[in-house]
Amino acid sequence: VETDSEVTFRYRDLETQLTEPDRLRSKPEVSDLGFGKFFTDHMLKIYYHSQLGGWQRPMLVPFENISLHPAAKVLHYAIELFEGLKAYRGVDEKIRIFRPELNMRRMNKSAVTAGLPTFDGHELIKCLNRLVQVDQEWVPHGEGSSLYLRPSLIGIDGTLGVVQSDSALLYTILCPVGNYFKNNSSISLLADPAFIRSWPGGCGDQKMGSNYGPTIRVQRIANGKGRHQVLWLYGPDHQLTEAGTMNIFLFHIDENGEKVLATPPLNGLILPGIIRQSIIEMCAEWKEFRVEERVITMNDVIKLKNTDRLLEVFGSGTACIISPVSAIEYQDAVIDIPTTEHSYPVYKKIKENLEAIQYGHIKHPWAQPI
Ligand code: PMP
Repeated sequence: VETDSEVTFRYRDLETQLTEPDRLRSKPEVSDLGFGKFFTDHMLKIYYHSQLGGWQRPMLVPFENISLHPAAKVLHYAIELFEGLKAYRGVDEKIRIFRPELNMRRMNKSAVTAGLPTFDGHELIKCLNRLVQVDQEWVPHGEGSSLYLRPSLIGIDGTLGVVQSDSALLYTILCPVGNYFKNNSSISLLADPAFIRSWPGGCGDQKMGSNYGPTIRVQRIANGKGRHQVLWLYGPDHQLTEAGTMNIFLFHIDENGEKVLATPPLNGLILPGIIRQSIIEMCAEWKEFRVEERVITMNDVIKLKNTDRLLEVFGSGTACIISPVSAIEYQDAVIDIPTTEHSYPVYKKIKENLEAIQYGHIKHPWAQPI
C-alpha cells in the first residue's frame, strides 16, 4: 500500500482553532508521567464521509471528547486501527519524530484490512508535525521521556450492519510519557501455548484494536504468576512470536561459535515493528554479528540455554524502545536468561544508539525535525 494515495485530505486545508489561554492544562512533573495518563491541549480530527466526497478538511482543535452515534461501528465490531510514534526533544532543543513514514505505511495497511479509507501519509505527517508544534511545550525535557503520538482511525457509521463504514474519523491525541516500564529494569515472561495472539490468515500483523482487547485476560494471568508480560507462542512447535506488545530478539552463539541476533520473520503472525526494523537495519550495518529473521521455537531457546549459548533476550517497541528479558516461565519451569549480566550487552548498545539518534546526539535521517 502506497502512502501517497490520490484520494486524501491535504495539510494545506488544515483549519486551526487554538485553546483559550485560560483553559490550557498544567503540565505534570516528568517523574509522574507514566504512560498515556496525561494529554496535551490540542488534537487533530479529520472526518471522512463517502457521501460528501470522502475526506474532509483536517482540523486542529482543543482537546475534547468525541461524540458518536451509539450504533457507531467502532463500538460494535471494533472497526478501528491505531498507531504509536514518538517525538523527542533533542539535546539541541529541536523536536524530532522517529521514522513517521513507516507508521503511515502500516496505518494505511491496517486501514485496507479494516475497510477504512486510506490517505496520503505525507499529508498526515505534515498535520502531525503542526500539532506537535502547537503543543511543543508538552514535549518533555530529559532523556527517557518523549511525546507519544496516537493516531486512530475509527468507523463511525451509525448503522448496525457488519459492512464497510461509509464514515470514519481519523484523530490524533498526544501524551507526554516517561519510561514505559516503571523501573526500567529487566522483565520476565510467561510462555503458555494455550494462548494464541495471531494465526495465519488472520490480522495479527495489523495494528487493529481487535488484536489487543482479548490479551487483557491473558496478561492478568501472567501477572498473577508474577510475570510482567506474555510471550506469545504459535503452532505445535511453540514458535516465539511477540513479547506482550513488543517484537522479540535473541542474541546467541550458533553451532560454529559465531554470534547471531535472531528475530521472528514477518510471516503474518507478528506486527512489523518500526523499532524491530530499525534494529535489524542498524545491526546489519555494524557487521559485528549476523542478523537473522527466522522462526525460533521454545526448543531452540532451551537448547541454547542448556549449551550456554543463549546470551540475551529482549523486546523492542516504540513505547519502551528496548526491554531486556531476564526469565521465561514455560511448562512449569523457569528459564533464566543472563541478558543483563554481561559487561556491555548488545541490547544496551542498540538502545544507546537508537536514543542517540532520537535525542539528536547523532544527525540521522530516521529522526526528522518537525
Ligand atoms: N508488537 C505489537 C503487538 C505492538 O503492539 C507493538 C507496538 N506498536 C510492537 C510489536 C512494536 O512495534 P513498534 O516498534 O512499531 O512500536
